[in-house]
Amino acid sequence: MFIRKIGIDLGTCNSVVYIPGKGVIINEPSVVAVSLPDGSDGYKKILAVGNEAKEMIGKTPDTIITYRPLKDGVIADFRVTQAMIQYFIRRALGRFNFFKPDLVISVPAGITSTERRAVIEAAMKAGAKQAFVAKEPILGAIGAGIPINSPSGNMIVDIGGGTSETAVISLGGIVAWKSVRVAGSKMDQAISAYIKNKYNLAIGDQMAEDLKINIGSALPVKEEEKMEIRGRDLISGLPKTIGIKTNEVCEAISSHLKEITQAVKEVLRDTPPELAADVIDKGMILFGGGALLKNIDTLFTNVTGVPAYVADDPMLCVAKGTGMVLENLDVYKRSIMSKK
Ligand code: ADP
Ligand code: MG
Repeated sequence: MFIRKIGIDLGTCNSVVYIPGKGVIINEPSVVAVSLPDGSDGYKKILAVGNEAKEMIGKTPDTIITYRPLKDGVIADFRVTQAMIQYFIRRALGRFNFFKPDLVISVPAGITSTERRAVIEAAMKAGAKQAFVAKEPILGAIGAGIPINSPSGNMIVDIGGGTSETAVISLGGIVAWKSVRVAGSKMDQAISAYIKNKYNLAIGDQMAEDLKINIGSALPVKEEEKMEIRGRDLISGLPKTIGIKTNEVCEAISSHLKEITQAVKEVLRDTPPELAADVIDKGMILFGGGALLKNIDTLFTNVTGVPAYVADDPMLCVAKGTGMVLENLDVYKRSIMSKK
């Protein structure tokens, strides 16, 4: 089957490529490894993208660096982002694709028009017939099954790796929104810092993320889980293993979660009363990897007073949304996307 349509969720943490009729075909970390300029031409060479690049993190010689080009929900490095987009498109197309595909790429709601143009340019360079970019909260809402074109308020919260975005959407447009640079990665850092303070133990980011995913919770629980972790004792300098419990992880990340719920409250405050009434009736939908944190729906419901629900497959909502837009380009073309 030839590929004529490609959707890409360009996330700060993970990028997902979606083909209508086929589903998710690539789901890899948004990481690029580049070699530093050797001085002769001042040109950085792209060495690896995705899984391959992520495996290099922390293990590279001084001449290679690994980037997360979309770190805080903005495009930190143009050229590296372009290389990443091109890599995903080429991989999706394979070697014998004779048709130029239509592309829909999701971008963080906060990116500038210059950045948006750079994304489109990269897609065109990689061989797209036409390329559209659309905002992540809207695509995620579509992917979560929310009827965004209805004249009614719908609230979403997208908790990703670098940013959390919350928005109220009505008639295909964003009515009120807020983005905070607090999401999964900051939670991982908070867990490392907590363990360093309490136990004088240094652990890596990956270990901290494992704790969050395996035993973490947004609210304290009665029946705690426990996980053994290995780190380096900061006093003796030697490796050491200790056990960490659920409520410790919960305590470590609680202030970051509060910042996210605070953003949700601000958006609710900025929402016109008629639409706010819809939101209170229907509740808010959570997606992004952070929505998988245990008990996060209960925390959001308790703190905001608006019922919160986790979408199905929360990490894939945005990618699915790109697919649904591609299948109905005529419907969405004018309302939510910018072409140039
Ligand atoms: P982005 O759109 O920014 O690329 P994602 O939506 O892919 O981000 O989410 C990535 C974040 O989700 C990471 O910080 C990861 O640690 C977090 N995450 C993934 N699974 C879980 C889980 N089960 N519990 C808590 N956080 C999770
Ligand atoms: Mg995302």
